[in-house]
Parts: sequence; C-alpha cells; structure tokens
Amino acid sequence: MDNCIFCKIVNGDIPAEKIYEDGDIIAFNDINPAAPVHFLLIPKLHIASLYETDESDQCLLGKMLLLAPQLAKKLGCPDGFRTIINTGHLGGQEVFHLHIHILGSSERLPVMNHHD
Ligand code: 5GP
Ligand code: ZN
Repeated sequence: MDNCIFCKIVNGDIPAEKIYEDGDIIAFNDINPAAPVHFLLIPKLHIASLYETDESDQCLLGKMLLLAPQLAKKLGCPDGFRTIINTGHLGGQEVFHLHIHILGSSERLPVMNHHD
C-alpha cells in the first residue's frame, strides 16, 4: 500500500529499529514508547486491521502470537509483558496496518482503566 507507514518500514523506505525479521513478519521498536519495552509485531503483507483477516490468515496470526513471548524474553521481559491489538477507530487504531503492541517493564504494568 503506497501510503502506509508500516509498509514503508517493511520495504525499508523509512527506517525503524528492527528487532526481528523473517519472510512473513517484522518487529521493531515503537517510535513513541508507552513502556520501557514497547515494540510492534507486524505482518509484511498489508492487512489493514484484524477486521480484514480471515481463515487464510490463521497461520500468520498464530505465528505472530507465538513470536510475542519469544521476543519479549529476548528483550528482557522474562516475567511478564502485555499484548495489545487496537482495531478500528473506536478501538484506538491509528496506523491501519495490522500490528501487535508488546509492552514490558521491570515494574508491574498499570492496570487497565475500568469502565464505570
Ligand atoms: P495504534 O494506535 O495504531 O495501535 O498504534 C500505532 C503505533 O505506531 C503507535 O504506538 C505509534 O507510536 C507507532 N508508530 C507510528 N508511526 C511510527 C513510525 O513511523 N515508526 C515507528 N517505529 N512507530 C510508529
Ligand atoms: Zn501497510
């Protein structure tokens, strides 16, 4: 996709601090980290969001999720981390190329705010 910032990272058109790459997936540090460890796992294929996935993406999605704990450990989070996938405008998604946030810290992450 021409105007997708994450496709540009995949293609090497804009730089990123890459921490993992294989044929299907890359992971790189978030430019605006919300925790001491904050990286993004994305498919190389442009998929706008979880809404745009179907059975043909099952293997890719599983592969991404399996990588999360491996990379979290490698980046110094052996005792816990958080995964977030924002989906759609109401889900807080800003970049419409599917990504899993992985957040970690040496302290316990803040609890999620509860709806009243
Ligand atoms: P979303 O709100 O879509 O779930 O999250 C998008 C994330 O991408 C944000 O945490 C934001 O900081 C990150 N981000 C946006 N543009 C760039 C970029 O050009 N490079 C990197 N490394 N991260 C980005
Ligand atoms: Zn894209």
